[in-house]
Amino acid sequence: MVIDFHTHAFPEKIAQKAIEKLAYTSGGLIPQHKGTLESLKEEMDKDGVDVSVVLGIATNPKQQQNVNNFAAEINADSRFVGFGSVHPDAPDVLFELERIKELGLKGVKFHPEYQNFFVDEEKMKPIYKKISQLGLITIFHAGHDLGYSEPFHCMPENLERALGWFSAPVVAAHWGGAGCAKLVEKHLAGCDVWFDLSFGYGTMPKSFAQKIVDKHTPDRLLFGSDMPWHRPSWEMRLIESLDISKEDKDKIYYQNAQKLLDL
Ligand SMILES: [Zn+2]
Repeated sequence: MVIDFHTHAFPEKIAQKAIEKLAYTSGGLIPQHKGTLESLKEEMDKDGVDVSVVLGIATNPKQQQNVNNFAAEINADSRFVGFGSVHPDAPDVLFELERIKELGLKGVKFHPEYQNFFVDEEKMKPIYKKISQLGLITIFHAGHDLGYSEPFHCMPENLERALGWFSAPVVAAHWGGAGCAKLVEKHLAGCDVWFDLSFGYGTMPKSFAQKIVDKHTPDRLLFGSDMPWHRPSWEMRLIESLDISKEDKDKIYYQNAQKLLDL
């Protein structure tokens, strides 16, 4: 069994455009599916993935409802777990979080670059408090982003500070911080936070990956790809190249996610 904790897909109508735009902004990455759920599922089958967490992002306050309604639709298919999203500047952000809970979504994704906020900004405190009260999982895009330049808004130091404001599970994407392995090891490894292992293949030096596995422990790691930007089979190659026992690999590939998502 494999659960991919980090994927993206879009409503049919906008899928092609969304994928083209994101590929362009990220420096011409070659998308590994066509942007739709159907296409994601075909590729999951090829790579041996059973369930994918599908992450949407409200890049402006007006998008919140559409993004969350789509996530709820996604959930009708047992192969998918749709996460919602809120925009920190939306006047109804706390209300929308309640609606997310009512829709039955299990978590929310923030992208501090697309949404232009630092994860440890004061204005986020009431939002994190509400999320904690509702018992939602929070996943942050963490570290660098191919489409942006410094300052990055969810560096390991920022996230370390923000973690203290949560009393519900937090996931830091991309091994705790894309392109920041040394800082992740210093500030986040061993903390009360989950890392998804997406977009690590070919970007994460093997020696750092091993250090993070050892220091953070396999109990806190979640397999992820970042489809359509990286394939699950690529991420598996990185994990298989590390010194991890079969038992611990099972935790990473699905058991931790199963527990966290209550599947
Ligand atoms: Zn992603």
